[in-house]
Amino acid sequence: MKNDYTEPPHPPLSPEGGGEGWGEGGEAVMEDNILLQVNNISVVYSDVIQVLKGVSLVIRRGQIVSLLGSNGAGKTTTLKAISGLLKPENGKVTEGSIEYESKGIHNSSPETITRLGIIQVLEGRQPFKYMTVEENLRVGTATRWGKPYKKDLELVYQYFQPLVARKNRLAGYCSGGELQMLVMGRALMAHPQLLLLDEPSLGLAPFLVREIFEIVKRINEEQRTTIMLVEQNANMALLIAHYGYVMENGKIVMEEAAVNLRENPDVKEFYLGTASSGALKSYKDVKSYKRRKRWL
Ligand code: ATP
Repeated sequence: MKNDYTEPPHPPLSPEGGGEGWGEGGEAVMEDNILLQVNNISVVYSDVIQVLKGVSLVIRRGQIVSLLGSNGAGKTTTLKAISGLLKPENGKVTEGSIEYESKGIHNSSPETITRLGIIQVLEGRQPFKYMTVEENLRVGTATRWGKPYKKDLELVYQYFQPLVARKNRLAGYCSGGELQMLVMGRALMAHPQLLLLDEPSLGLAPFLVREIFEIVKRINEEQRTTIMLVEQNANMALLIAHYGYVMENGKIVMEEAAVNLRENPDVKEFYLGTASSGALKSYKDVKSYKRRKRWL
């Protein structure tokens, strides 16, 4: 069926001519303050399937760092290595190290890592279906059970206003957009220092994707939350990110300030879907071109 949807015109997300946290050319102005460092890690599932092969990256405090790459590149595996969630999948970091605030966390349990303030929002937006929206949000406070949470709820409802009308409804009845807001709101309730977002745009209508990315940018700016954003929607991710990494076949193949990545001809061709002429390439063309040209 022909898709007649055209996205309404909208202002650019990143202020091209400056603004708080941005330089005159739209480049990020951030202190050189490392929060998380991934040093040359290899990850293997079930002792035999090697997925990550020497991945290194740096996340600076206060930034949004985007990790881009196609299906199966190893993006989710990278996030799970950081959050400690490889273990339930029979995966492990076999080489290298992960340092958070200069302390090694690659052998730590997910519980310990969560208590340090690293909170992952998994791909697929799974709520507790038989609990209400508000009960789901309260689950996010599990690491500080018994402590006051009303102000946190107010903050979440301020960012995710559609949840207010749904707060007493079972989460199982929420739409895809509401669920994405719910799982991100639940993560905010945990007071993240480093928020790991896995494909928040997946399967959402363009206007909702835009709304979600606007909120991610506001959370970063207003709460000073550092964010690692895994996305296949490179167009949107590079609009709000300060820095970006491109991953292919379990390796980082490119890294740069997001503003430069957006202008990179290979990124334009492979991930933004535009040729150097500015013409939109079909995904099929991009895929076959990608098979011919590799950075590896
Ligand atoms: P996607 O966007 O499709 O989620 P991705 O870049 O996030 O892709 P990963 O989910 O990290 O990629 O998967 C990378 C590779 O690791 C894939 O080939 C996948 O099949 C494999 N893989 C992921 N999880 C497991 C697992 N638990 N056991 C074995 N192999 C796995």
